[in-house]
Amino acid sequence: MTLNGNEFTLSNQALEAMATTFWRTRVKERGRMLCRDGEITASPEHIGGRWSITTRNCRGKMEAGDFHTHPVGPSAPSWWDAFSILSTSYRHHRPVLGCRGAKADGLIRCETARRVPTLAELQYLKTKRRRMRGTWAHDDPEIAKYLSESQSFEVRKVPEFIKPPAPPPVAPRIKTEELVFATSMFKRYTNLDTGETRVEKVY
Ligand SMILES: [Zn+2]
Repeated sequence: MTLNGNEFTLSNQALEAMATTFWRTRVKERGRMLCRDGEITASPEHIGGRWSITTRNCRGKMEAGDFHTHPVGPSAPSWWDAFSILSTSYRHHRPVLGCRGAKADGLIRCETARRVPTLAELQYLKTKRRRMRGTWAHDDPEIAKYLSESQSFEVRKVPEFIKPPAPPPVAPRIKTEELVFATSMFKRYTNLDTGETRVEKVY
């Protein structure tokens, strides 16, 4: 997916891992780091609390962002989710991806930072952080303005995205024989795989 001009290509492994984590979610948030390994791949799953989760690092690979689930409420980013996207983007000097999967709407939804905040901007947001717990990012224009547009997809459609492409059809092996008579000629085609024959008059 492309967000605010940044390309974030989720590998089949990442899509499958995100969907698995989504379906496993019951009461506690679950999450994975998203790591850059050419395409984006997902780390093993971490289990958090009912309302929060801390994901760990990418073990040597570049960090592309993270994914976590919302057992309650929609896939929209919470204020803390947005803060996490911004502080991680600041730490890496580039916009990172933040995705959530929510049982309530069946969606995986992602955003990135519209731009990397400055240290002063981040510190200002940090002063608000404690009292913003439990609010949605889009209810506070002071943090929502840093978020890119969002992209979402239905989790139940993930198996369709990751289906391998159909193999190209195999051309049948055909033996062609010419059957020549005094005033006519036929061609006999034999499919060597099925044994089927077809005769065509040439003249
Ligand atoms: Zn969240």
